[in-house]
Amino acid sequence: MRDTCDQEDAVSAETVIVGGGISSIRLAERLRRAGDEDPITIVSAEPGLVYDRPPLSKGVLLDDDPRRPDLATEEALGALGVRRVTGCRAVRLDQAARRVELETGETLSYDDLVIATGSDPRRLPALDEVGPYYLRTWDDALALREAVREAARIGVIGAGVLGLEIAATSRVLGREVMVVDTAPHALARIGGPELGTPVADLHREHGVRFHLGVGIDTATENGDGAITLRLTDGTEHVVDVLVVAIGAVPVTDWLQGSGLAGHDGVETDAGCRTSDERIFAIGDVARVERGPGDRRRLEHWTNAGDTAAVAARGILARRRGETPPTLTELPYVWSDQYDVKLQILGHLDPDGSLIPAVEDPEAGRWLRIAVRGQEVTGVVGWNMPAAVNRCRAALIAGATTDELLQSAPWERKARR
Ligand SMILES: Cc1cc2nc3c(=O)[nH]c(=O)nc-3n(C[C@H](O)[C@H](O)[C@H](O)COP(=O)(O)OP(=O)(O)OC[C@H]3O[C@@H](n4cnc5c(N)ncnc54)[C@H](O)[C@@H]3O)c2cc1C
Repeated sequence: MRDTCDQEDAVSAETVIVGGGISSIRLAERLRRAGDEDPITIVSAEPGLVYDRPPLSKGVLLDDDPRRPDLATEEALGALGVRRVTGCRAVRLDQAARRVELETGETLSYDDLVIATGSDPRRLPALDEVGPYYLRTWDDALALREAVREAARIGVIGAGVLGLEIAATSRVLGREVMVVDTAPHALARIGGPELGTPVADLHREHGVRFHLGVGIDTATENGDGAITLRLTDGTEHVVDVLVVAIGAVPVTDWLQGSGLAGHDGVETDAGCRTSDERIFAIGDVARVERGPGDRRRLEHWTNAGDTAAVAARGILARRRGETPPTLTELPYVWSDQYDVKLQILGHLDPDGSLIPAVEDPEAGRWLRIAVRGQEVTGVVGWNMPAAVNRCRAALIAGATTDELLQSAPWERKARR
């Protein structure tokens, strides 16, 4: 346990935000923008300023002289009037007393608490002996960047968004790359083979080798620093660097015993409010109601901002006795791999399919509509950011497949 945390003067706060990622800073900004002048405290396990994570698997790995992608300067944070307790974990929540206990033993009182503790990489303890890399923090990114630069052969476990971004940056750096996943196709956590196959093909064109539908049987250090992977199909492969990117788990350890931590994150209503009206959860850690019987935890950058915005309005609504707001934003995630920007607005239903809206192989771009029968669940864009954005209103309005195809919002600009 630490003896001290880096904190400014210790007054009790009206709003306490636990977590030092993008969702926490966005929430503080939203409160201030809405005119809240009450004290706000952010407790962050990480030291220093709040930084952005998406560049960690992209530019930071590629850059010869990477800079930490800070989200706000010291001056900007000062102007927000937010008290920050950094390099310090919250370790316990006392709901009855409305207090958060820090690892130093100090406590912070709150009127409203926001849980914004994000997620941590899902680990593969069986591989601990060979010391695989995980990627979540700035320090992780620097360590991985250095290792990839010194290596010839990179093994990536996990053909999800993060694993594939690491594969792409490693290939751009000229490394040999193999990707292993127990799923039969890439991106299996967010879509079916219609999504995963073109993405895996893109990687194959760039020289990535895939081993899909197989797991790791054993991983052994060879003595020369290299690692031999024996896959469940009996094949053996030697890599210099092993990266595990098999998803993330919500950080809720400090909430044990509070009744707020569910099996996969902190459950909230559509306004990001937990079962306790004074406690909200936002960002990666929150399992938010998205519709009747539909609660989802999204590890998406825009979701961090969207949930922060609705929680900020919810806090103020509670204090003012107003009706709490609900989340109306669509899920959105993007990924940059080689020269492709892949975007998913809405979601892909496991029982649904993708139908083509725009196919332009010469320009290397397409737009496909994710449908389940007549229901449009989302759109997927491949190098078509403006077109994806133009579908937003129709998706929010609940357009049917026929209506969306007829109105073709992706063509709107060309028609003018
Ligand atoms: C490498 C990488 C690349 C990504 N790329 C994309 C992308 O291309 N597109 C996209 O849509 N999304 C991307 N994401 C996801 C996106 O960055 C996350 O969804 C977003 O960072 C979530 O923000 P958050 O504030 O909820 O959590 P986090 O950013 O995880 O922040 C949570 C913070 O809380 C702190 N904390 C945890 N426990 C405690 C505690 N007990 N006390 C105090 N502090 C605590 C943590 O140390 C951390 O600083 C990427 C993520 C990573 C890691």
